[in-house]
Amino acid sequence: MPRLIFLGAPGAGKGTQAQVLAAALQVPHISTGDLLRHAVSVQSDLGQKAQSFMDRGELVPDQLVLDLLRDRMNQQDCKSGWILDGFPRNVPQAGDLDFLLQEIEQSCDLVINLDVPDDVIVVRLLARGRKDDTEDVIRRRLQVYQQQTAPLIAFYRERQKLTVVNGNQNIDQVMTDLQAAIAA
Ligand code: AMP
Repeated sequence: MPRLIFLGAPGAGKGTQAQVLAAALQVPHISTGDLLRHAVSVQSDLGQKAQSFMDRGELVPDQLVLDLLRDRMNQQDCKSGWILDGFPRNVPQAGDLDFLLQEIEQSCDLVINLDVPDDVIVVRLLARGRKDDTEDVIRRRLQVYQQQTAPLIAFYRERQKLTVVNGNQNIDQVMTDLQAAIAA
């Protein structure tokens, strides 16, 4: 069963595609954004610490997210495959993930970059209307993406793990291309 990382700007459709693909492959969809939003909604210690960063469109400190991810990846249903969505978000987190995967004796098969042009991203984010989707926060999240997350594309390309899928197509076509990328 595949172990996949999804990269892409906020609004690229990663969450939607990762969820549908995970259901098709019968592996868990692990979204650090979802894990964090859950922690915030139950107001756990970690959730309280994470909230203000999320509200501002900043990255939550690496260690907090790593703790959350380690707990999730150690659960039984992650033994035979997963799709990771929203992690890593910067180069240090990619290093953390390498360590974590070594710890649990797993490795990632493929990193998929869901590619969508910037102008399309902004239109999509404004239409989405999530709590952290106000215009200022969107602008900041895109900046954070460019500065901290986009370098991961080169990082994984150098390691020959990267595949690019065109995310600027209808949902079904993106899914077809994703399935082909995985089968390749
Ligand atoms: P997402 O649902 O992936 O767009 O994430 C929503 C928010 O959660 C982000 O804007 C960050 O504040 C936070 N977040 C999610 N994943 C991470 C991560 N890997 N590292 C740091 N912050 C994260």
